[in-house]
Amino acid sequence: MRLAGTLSVLVLGFGLAAVPAAAQDGADDTLEIYVVDVEGGEATLFVAPSGESMLFDTGWPGFDGRDANRIAAAAADAGADAIDHLIVTHFHGDHMGGAHQLAERLPVGSFIDHGTTVDEGERQLDAFARYVDLRETARHVVAAPGDRVPIEGLDVRILASAGDVLDVPLPGAGGANPFCEGFTFHGEDITSRYGNAEDDQSISTFVGFGRFRTVIMGDLNWNREHDLMCPEDRIGTVDLYLVSHHGSETSGSEALAHAIAPRAAVMNNGPRKGGAAQTFEILRAAPSPPDIWQNHYSIPAGDGNAPEAFIANLDEGVEMPDGRTVHMGDAHWIHISARRDGSFTVTNSRNGFSRDYPARQ
Ligand SMILES: [Zn+2]
Ligand SMILES: [Zn+2]
Repeated sequence: MRLAGTLSVLVLGFGLAAVPAAAQDGADDTLEIYVVDVEGGEATLFVAPSGESMLFDTGWPGFDGRDANRIAAAAADAGADAIDHLIVTHFHGDHMGGAHQLAERLPVGSFIDHGTTVDEGERQLDAFARYVDLRETARHVVAAPGDRVPIEGLDVRILASAGDVLDVPLPGAGGANPFCEGFTFHGEDITSRYGNAEDDQSISTFVGFGRFRTVIMGDLNWNREHDLMCPEDRIGTVDLYLVSHHGSETSGSEALAHAIAPRAAVMNNGPRKGGAAQTFEILRAAPSPPDIWQNHYSIPAGDGNAPEAFIANLDEGVEMPDGRTVHMGDAHWIHISARRDGSFTVTNSRNGFSRDYPARQ
């Protein structure tokens, strides 16, 4: 913890000198969140008012650092010179894959992850070994439910890690969750179909900033959501839901998505990855349905997609056999600027379309 604090002070001092004019204009005590397009992977950057930064995941490897470049562009937009805390939610290629290329572009203060991969394939084990080499070059923290990530001004708490979930509810939460009724567990067929033991190890995280609340789930599985949310709701309501698992149908149950009652949901999907029709249906069936913002148009969702103004990237790219999408051109992000009173603004960087969400009553 002491090392992280020292690092933050250094970065803050350095960062202030380098903050671009545009970021200074917007630096009036806001939490900036960038949902970076990494073609169906995950990369979400948080920058606190102090300038301290926290990145969830690094996108895919390869492509000459395409995803790392996109993350670096978001960091530059926020005036961040470093990633103070890198949370690798789990050890899949679309989350951990870009770590080396990112570290070549931005210094990483600490690596936070769930420990060791449970994947057994040779390719996955090789990729994990390369990541371990990298995390050994900096501070490394294995997260457990209930842990906090120390960032001045933010309340960052680990909700799930390595298959364990928070057992003591967050302050203000803990009531019976009415959306557990009728919960349908996913059986062997869907588990084997999507083969995702490592997803289930995901770090899920709550981030509070004054009255503003959000959750970012990684790829935590549908069945594990039940452990976290039933019978008592351990999260409570949030303003912003960073949609679990790219919007895949193996996550995002009513027990989670309805209980947290977000006003905006931002999905980091690819053209063919995540963005399941079922996920849109569940979000829209909520008692108070959130606006849905997407990083990509979803081919599988078809008519279920949000209106075009809410979608950051409309291109379809070319899908490779391993699930990666080749698209090297311009990419756009969804940007959230949140204030301590709980109000926030979501902006689509492709078209400048934005929407203001007032403080909750
Ligand atoms: Zn993923
Ligand atoms: Zn995954």
